[in-house]
Amino acid sequence: MKRIYLDNASTTPVAPDVVAELLPFLDSQFGNASSIHAFGQQTRNALELAREELAKAIGAKPSEVFFTSSGTEADNLALKGAVLARLGEPIQILTSKLEHKAVLESVEWIQKKFNIAVDFIAHDSKGRLDLDDLKKKIRPNHFTVISIMHANNELGNINPIKEIAAISKSHNAIFHTDAVQSAGKLRLDVDELGVDLMAISGHKFYAPKGVGAIYVRTGVQVESLLHGGTHERNRRAGTENVAFAVALVKALKFAHANLQQDFLHVASLQKAFLETISERNVPFSLNGDEVSKLPHIINLSFPIPTRQKLAGDVLLLALDAAGVAVSSGSACTSGTAKPSHVLLALGKSEHEARASVRVSFSKFNTEEEIRDAAGRFADVLKRLL
Ligand code: PLP
Repeated sequence: MKRIYLDNASTTPVAPDVVAELLPFLDSQFGNASSIHAFGQQTRNALELAREELAKAIGAKPSEVFFTSSGTEADNLALKGAVLARLGEPIQILTSKLEHKAVLESVEWIQKKFNIAVDFIAHDSKGRLDLDDLKKKIRPNHFTVISIMHANNELGNINPIKEIAAISKSHNAIFHTDAVQSAGKLRLDVDELGVDLMAISGHKFYAPKGVGAIYVRTGVQVESLLHGGTHERNRRAGTENVAFAVALVKALKFAHANLQQDFLHVASLQKAFLETISERNVPFSLNGDEVSKLPHIINLSFPIPTRQKLAGDVLLLALDAAGVAVSSGSACTSGTAKPSHVLLALGKSEHEARASVRVSFSKFNTEEEIRDAAGRFADVLKRLL
């Protein structure tokens, strides 16, 4: 049986052209970028070139870009770093319940540790944020950090980042966006978006797992979380992973070169998937915003009767047994047998959340395998419905 991978929002395979770019840095160009000899200078030059290219790709200055070990680290650094830099003042974090755990758990940790104010922006049952509520919830006389993701990893919803940035600016707040799911899929220009902090992660756009980056607008203070050497201009100690930093930047450049073409391809895959399960008469409803969304991610709920006990990841395991790899939410939540916090926040019951799956497509999927996967999907669901 050929296994079909439709869990690309969890991680993507590393593209062969990205592997080719990173291999020399695991082999001949192995120097430590902080060493002053020629071996070190060679990798230092590659790292700084990668930084310049990344900055150019997102409309930033090289001095505003820092490499991290992951999207999670970039989110932690943005939130904890911004709060630590202003401790002693009244501080508020304003976010939403639909964020990734890298944001939500960081916020919870900060709140417990420093007893700062945390507020959540209201949203509707499709996960669309209420921007009037956002305005109302900005506390006067506080240093406010707003953290709203660009694209939601479970629903694919694209949030109105420019509008939020304008509100943030007019209230003298700072605005962090987790752009982990949108990087490589939508063009990101930090000035056009108006963000102050932005996190990205390589493995969502065909670079390896274990490398991310953060954009920090000039003038925004962010305290370092890792101490040691003077790497990344004192923002992040630790010998730089040049191979993976280069890979992240090349992957982003490759993605930008084919952005529209890949977007349209993925949109056609999504259409083919939904068409096939509809033809097979599988009843389903789509979760999330159907208008402002990435085609790469769809989240479907099925009216599986409650007598079917869906404890844990029963549905996912049944699909896996049929050779279709999908997930129930973020990879950080699946495996814990907990229903998706995002679907619960949209008002779904635990059973409804467990009767839902996220299907996420990549540029490497073909229409043929999507129709095959959707057929297998229908077979599994028909047994449960
Ligand atoms: N933020 C979002 C929206 C994500 O989807 C993910 C990964 O699933 C992360 C953050 C964490 O990124 P990483 O896996 O690089 O730690």
